[in-house]
Amino acid sequence: MNDNKFESKGGMGLAEVIVEAQRCLQCKVPQCQKGCPVSNLIPEWIAQLGQGNFGNAIEIIRRRSNLPAVCGRVCAKERQCEGHCILNKKDRPIRIGELERFVADFDSIAGLEHASIPEKTKGRVAVIGSGPAGLTISGNLSKMGFNVDIYEMEREAGGVLLYGIPEYRLPKDVVRREVKRIEALGVGIHLGVTIGIDYTIDDLFGMGYDAIFIGTGAGQPRKLPIKGMDHAGVYQALRFLRRVQLWQSGDIDRREVGIEPGDKVYIIGGGNTAMDAARTAIRMGAGEVTVAYRKTINEMRALHSEYEEAVEEGVRFMWNTEVKEAIGEPGSDRLSRLIIVENGVEREVEADHLIGAVGSGPAARIVSTTIGIEVDERGYVKTTDEPYGMTTRAGVFAGGDVSDQPATVVHAMRDAQLVAEGIGQYVAAVKLMGKINSRKG
Ligand code: SF4
Repeated sequence: MNDNKFESKGGMGLAEVIVEAQRCLQCKVPQCQKGCPVSNLIPEWIAQLGQGNFGNAIEIIRRRSNLPAVCGRVCAKERQCEGHCILNKKDRPIRIGELERFVADFDSIAGLEHASIPEKTKGRVAVIGSGPAGLTISGNLSKMGFNVDIYEMEREAGGVLLYGIPEYRLPKDVVRREVKRIEALGVGIHLGVTIGIDYTIDDLFGMGYDAIFIGTGAGQPRKLPIKGMDHAGVYQALRFLRRVQLWQSGDIDRREVGIEPGDKVYIIGGGNTAMDAARTAIRMGAGEVTVAYRKTINEMRALHSEYEEAVEEGVRFMWNTEVKEAIGEPGSDRLSRLIIVENGVEREVEADHLIGAVGSGPAARIVSTTIGIEVDERGYVKTTDEPYGMTTRAGVFAGGDVSDQPATVVHAMRDAQLVAEGIGQYVAAVKLMGKINSRKG
C-alpha cells in the first residue's frame, strides 16, 4: 500500500484499474470471454471493477476460476482473452490479466470475499496432485458438497505452480495464498504422500473414497535426442527449475542448483519452459545463456512477450540450430563443449551446461501400480466423455496434463472443471444404484 492506494506488487494502482475498467465497451457478445478457456465472465466483473465494487468483481471471477491470482499472472493472455478483445481493432486491448491480478491480490489483503463452506453430503473424493488441475477440481468439488482430500508427494502444495514456474513470473506467496483459499473451502491436504508408493489406488478405495482423481500433471521430462545427454553437466529444464525453487525455499544448498556465476549455458527448445529455464539461468548468474532452437523464430511455441523479455535480459537465440553432442570430462559435473549444427553447418562451441526443454510426459508411477487404467502409446491416461474424465477403471478419473498433451495452466483448470461435473454425475449414479439395490434386497 502507498498513499492510501493499493498497488498489486509490480502491477497496476487502484486509480489506473478503475480507468482501465471503464474503457471496456461491455460488448453484448464478448469476444474476450470466448477467448478464455474457462469462459471467465469478463465484462461482468470488469463492470463491477469500473464502479469500484471489488467484492462483487472477485465473487464473479471465482464463479469460473479457483486461481485468479495465478491466471492473472501466467495465462497466455495475448492468445486468449486480451488477444480476442474487440479493442485490438481500434487501439489496444483491455489489460484483462492485470485487472484480474489486481482484484485477486486486493481480495487476499482486504478479505473481500468469504466463501461459504457447503455441507459435505455428496460423498468423498481423493485428489492426487496439487497442481492447477488438482487445486481446481478440489475447489469445485468442495463447493459442490463433496468431502475432498488432496494427496501431494512434495512437502508443499502447488505442483507445477510452485516447482515449475519461476518466482519472477509467479511469486510463491501468490501460490501459497491460493492454496490457503482452497483449504478454507474445507479441503484436506496431505503432504509428502506418494500414491503408487505409500498407498495404491486400491488402498484409497479401501479408505472409503467414492471417486479418485489423478491430476499428477506431466512432470516427466522427455529424453534429449543427443549424444552425451547422460553427462552430469546436462540438465532437464523442469528438474533445474525445481532445484532452483528448492534452493529458494532453503531445502537444498546453492551448489546443488548446478549453474555457477559466469557459466556458459545452452538451452534446447522453443517453448515457454525453455524461456523460463533461460531467464532463470540468467538470474542464477550465468555469464552467457543461449537458446538453440531447431526451427525459426516464427515457429516458436513460446509467447512472443516471453521471448522479448528473454532478449531484453540478455538471452541469445540461435535459429535453425540443433545440438548434436554434449562433451565433458567423465566424472565432472560440467561440460566442456557442444557440437552444434547451425543452418546445416557443424561446429563446436564452449559450454558448461546444456538444459533440455523439449517437452514432458506423465510419470507411470500410479498406472503401473493399479490394474485397469489404460494409457495411450505416449503414456497419457485414456479417459471417456461420459462421464467426463473417467479412466478405463470405474470411479478413477484423470484430468489436466496427465490425460492430454501438456498445455497451459488455464487449460488444465478447464479440464478439471469438466471432470468435477463428471465425478458429480458418477457418484450420484452409484449412490442411486446402491439405494435401489438395497430396497430390492
Ligand atoms: Fe470489454 Fe474487450 Fe471484452 Fe469487449 S471484448 S467486453 S471491450 S474486454
